Amino acid sequence: MDAEELPRAPHTVDDFLRAYEDGGPLRGFRCVRCGLVSATWGLACPRCGDTGRVEQELSPSGKVVSFTIQTVPGDEFLNDAPYAYVVVELDGGGRITGWMPAVRSVSDLEVGDRVRFHPSYKPGVQFVRDLPVDRPGSGG
Ligand SMILES: [Zn+2]
Repeated sequence: MDAEELPRAPHTVDDFLRAYEDGGPLRGFRCVRCGLVSATWGLACPRCGDTGRVEQELSPSGKVVSFTIQTVPGDEFLNDAPYAYVVVELDGGGRITGWMPAVRSVSDLEVGDRVRFHPSYKPGVQFVRDLPVDRPGSGG
């Protein structure tokens, strides 16, 4: 196969990964064949393999589907440990990994908890707890 036959991404990996660091939204892709929304950059759909993918803005909110507590951090996070490394299922599709600085033990977070993207100068996608808005009649 010649290089000219390879599928082309709609933008560079750097553009995709860094947009949110400049205050932009989280970005992902929707498969034109099966409709899967993915937060992961790639040339083909991870579910059906089709190369027809269109860029899509992802929701900043979602729920935690898995997490672990990091006690041995990389250099950028030395002052933040312990913190949670989370996998978040975004509303409308896309699973993305990120971190939560305020979560210091497994008792501070539960699978299913609502979180939202909170831009940070630190690397990675930072999430914070998405607290419910008090509404009249919601009890509490
Ligand atoms: Zn697909």
